[in-house]
Amino acid sequence: MVKTLAISAVHINVRGVVQGVGFRPFVYQLATKYNLKGWVCNTSEAVKIEVEGEAEAIERFLLALQKQAPPRASIEDITTTHYSPANYEGFEIRHSMAEEGKYQLISPDIATCQDCLKEILNPDDRRYRYPFTNCTNCGPRFTIIKDIPYDRPLTTMNRFKMCPECQREYDDSLNRRFHAQPNACPKCGPTLELVDNQGTSTNSTDTITATSKLLREGKIIAIKGLGGFLLACDATNQVVINRLRQRKVRPSKPLAIMASSIEEVKKHCYVSDEEEILLASPHSPIVLLKWRAGSSVSSAVAPNLKYLGVMLPYTPLHHILLRETVLPLVMTSGNLSEEPIAKDNDEAIQRLKDIADYFLMHNRDIYVRYDDSVTMVERGVTQLVRRARGYAPHPIHLPFKSRQILACGAEEKNTFCLTREHHAFVSQHIGDMENLETMEHFENTISLYQRLFRIEPTIIAHDLHPEYLSTKYAQELAATSDDIRLVPVQHHHAHIVSGMVDNAVETPVIGVALDGTGYGSDGNIWGGEFLVADYQRFTRMAHLEYLPLPGGATAIKKPYRIALSYLLSLLGEDALKQDLPFLEQIDRTETGIIRKQIEKKINSPLTSSCGRLFDAVSALIGVRGEIDYEAQAAIELEMLAYNEVNETDYYPFSIIEQDGISIVKLQDLFSALIDDLQSKTIKATMAAKFHNTIAQMIKALCQDISTRTNITQVVLSGGVFQNRLLLRKTVSLLEDGEFTVFTHRQVPCNDGGISLGQAVIANFASQ
Ligand SMILES: [Zn+2]
Ligand SMILES: [Zn+2]
Ligand SMILES: [Zn+2]
Repeated sequence: MVKTLAISAVHINVRGVVQGVGFRPFVYQLATKYNLKGWVCNTSEAVKIEVEGEAEAIERFLLALQKQAPPRASIEDITTTHYSPANYEGFEIRHSMAEEGKYQLISPDIATCQDCLKEILNPDDRRYRYPFTNCTNCGPRFTIIKDIPYDRPLTTMNRFKMCPECQREYDDSLNRRFHAQPNACPKCGPTLELVDNQGTSTNSTDTITATSKLLREGKIIAIKGLGGFLLACDATNQVVINRLRQRKVRPSKPLAIMASSIEEVKKHCYVSDEEEILLASPHSPIVLLKWRAGSSVSSAVAPNLKYLGVMLPYTPLHHILLRETVLPLVMTSGNLSEEPIAKDNDEAIQRLKDIADYFLMHNRDIYVRYDDSVTMVERGVTQLVRRARGYAPHPIHLPFKSRQILACGAEEKNTFCLTREHHAFVSQHIGDMENLETMEHFENTISLYQRLFRIEPTIIAHDLHPEYLSTKYAQELAATSDDIRLVPVQHHHAHIVSGMVDNAVETPVIGVALDGTGYGSDGNIWGGEFLVADYQRFTRMAHLEYLPLPGGATAIKKPYRIALSYLLSLLGEDALKQDLPFLEQIDRTETGIIRKQIEKKINSPLTSSCGRLFDAVSALIGVRGEIDYEAQAAIELEMLAYNEVNETDYYPFSIIEQDGISIVKLQDLFSALIDDLQSKTIKATMAAKFHNTIAQMIKALCQDISTRTNITQVVLSGGVFQNRLLLRKTVSLLEDGEFTVFTHRQVPCNDGGISLGQAVIANFASQ
């Protein structure tokens, strides 16, 4: 007797990060396991599946689809519809289809997986020491894609034809490399070449061993990676590090290092469980770790700092090189000070020939620049300091459905953001918009994202600052079409809304936005701001008092000018009669100029910036009067404060009401600092007391605003909150005061997070 079974047929749409992560092979294997017929296919919108078979088997198939998805896949939703069976004979993977206007998510580049690592370390494997080994669980993705759907012809791997063995893996549904688009081996894939700084080949037969030898001899090597060239040198050799600093025109800004393994990292830094997981994760970011005394990493890597930026190898090339070199290596972006990272071979030689002694390059093109991400773990939570490799272009989920918007971001640490539906595509770190190269990188990356995610924005958000290049870009774009609406967004409002979205908060918050510079609605430079904000609007409830910044940008590079200006403004000429060591840094002429600038209000913009307050205090107590990288004075003040981390005392400050706004007056703070200086209080104590003062100030103002508004949720945003000591102290004071505190997680608290806030505000801006 033949038993007839009910045959069902279901069409399935799977959306999320499901392409380039081994999803179709997984579906194929699953369908085979449950004896289902049909097909699976990538489209530009989703992975589409049709399955026919027993209803119960289909049920189990659907369950497994979600429960057992490949490790790098991230499913956003699955929809199913029934259809009348087409009586397929088997199960097949169909050719990809592009669908007009549809889009899909794209995987970030993924660090080398354990299986691939085993192969490159195994002398019997055909991929032994092959630097471009990858599989469906790891390897380049975003940096090689030119368009969707994600298939080899639309990647920079299109020029490499797979050898029969690689092709077999690619076609074999049971293989880890089934449909792995960048699949390659020593026979058919990309190859390395070691050249000198004139571009002449060294003709090395073993380029990695040769590079390793050069590194041990104290040479600087530009190494082509996933998203650009990195400059590498021995992290224990002070002479070569100083040479690198001199050539790169980067006197003291901290450099990141790469160590061969977690064990090696632990020799140099303290590593918590969370930090270890993050280091070894597929994102493989730089993690800011507490530096151990006695580490062999030279102090020249991060002068005066207690934290070290560390990453693990994330490509097979790094793994092999680090193992052979047996030294931690400095690995820093291949650029001259603030230019974007070099990505193409010729471009790299052109731009880096005076910095690097040799170039280790390869012939797999990088389609888009992609810096290393920088993270820190604070109170068990990962926070992004620079969001790029391993994270972008994965979108931030929006708690609402958004219109199609382009937000152009800020000036420094620029990112842009494109939105569509529930997705906010915050770009990878673009850089400081101060040169032509960065501007080009910005424009090219915008068009790549628009193409990949099929976004045609009709609303463009930009910062209020009229001189930002990102503002000018927005205005020029709007001038080309009548259909584009411009939405200017205040800088600190954008910070706070970015912090809200980062935590899926939709109701009004008290927003504490502390940073260096942001253009205020009144034309002054804001940066010590307490707002009540939601997605539509903000009210400035309180701020630090306005003080003059003599010389504007010059003052930012010379914090002693700010200290002098604040002293004169708050305490008058008498303050200068005291014996204050920092005054020795300034000669009479300069003091005279500064005095005149303040008196006559010449080139002395007013600022309420908290970053500048840190600068002034750092200079005043003799920590740093001149800087050569952003926020150096504030960072060194923080480092000093760790020496007196248990100090609980703080300086006085007062709050006055003026036209319904609370203003924090700083006179008492500065006279107390002068008293401490006169009584020869140690610098670390003053630094710690100052940090406590800011935390107490935040608490006092939040309580004040909460009494007036009944709001108890607080968002902390702005670059000042990269100060971990201040962040810890503030959060703990606020939580004791029964506030719910939100800090950044997925996007940076610094200006790298601004574009997300801009986009959301523009979405809710009235027509
Ligand atoms: Zn792999
Ligand atoms: Zn091959
Ligand atoms: Zn800012």
